[in-house]
Amino acid sequence: MKSSKKIIIAIDGYSSTGKSTLAKHLAKEIGYVYVDTGAMYRAVTLYAMNHGFIDEGHFDRQELIANLDQINLHFKFNADLGYSEVFLNGKNVEKQIRSMAVSNMVSKVASISEIREKLVEQQHEIAKDKGIVMDGRDIGTVVFPDAELKIFMTASAEQRAGRRYKEMIDDGVEISYESVLENVNSRDLLDTTRSDSPLVKAADAIEIDNSDLNVQQTFEKAMALVVEALNK
Ligand code: C5P
Repeated sequence: MKSSKKIIIAIDGYSSTGKSTLAKHLAKEIGYVYVDTGAMYRAVTLYAMNHGFIDEGHFDRQELIANLDQINLHFKFNADLGYSEVFLNGKNVEKQIRSMAVSNMVSKVASISEIREKLVEQQHEIAKDKGIVMDGRDIGTVVFPDAELKIFMTASAEQRAGRRYKEMIDDGVEISYESVLENVNSRDLLDTTRSDSPLVKAADAIEIDNSDLNVQQTFEKAMALVVEALNK
């Protein structure tokens, strides 16, 4: 589908609701650039882990903040995959940032205002020419409050954990369903209760609850909203 009008599509929602699957699919369909902002917070978390600023028992926020200018993130399009991968200081970290260790610590790192400020600035720069599908937690509320289309994704915690668990098992990761559910629940709690840019549905966002929808049905529902926004 081609349209000369370029808009910003903001997709927010709870963990593991299929935001990135939907965002990638929409971007491909309409020839837009997909930006995974969760990958940016995950890459900063990986940096903090690699430098000993955070582990299960401690988090040296000040040290991480003091080293923020040492963190360089960029996205590079991978034609085989059909989307961009994230690079941390020149190294492709797309795989490493999906580990359970990163998932368990990322929401703590994402609660720091100095980090959010740096990443939001980069998100604005990436999207300056529009034609963007961006997913995250604060895209429709803080990053692009004027986005032409805002989608808010939700599904039951059990459904989300079940899907994530299956993906991880299919990828050969040894993990229990209970630990995935615990991660989903604890990230939701931290993301919705933090003081800076908490996860909240923007007043003008359209909610999609995909508890009972498959990937294709979710895509079709969202695509109808995209067509409507492009024709406005
Ligand atoms: O989207 P994903 O689950 O990969 O995001 C990982 C974490 O990064 C979230 O749980 C949240 O803590 C943080 N995040 C955020 N703001 C965004 C995107 C992600 O705080 N825009």
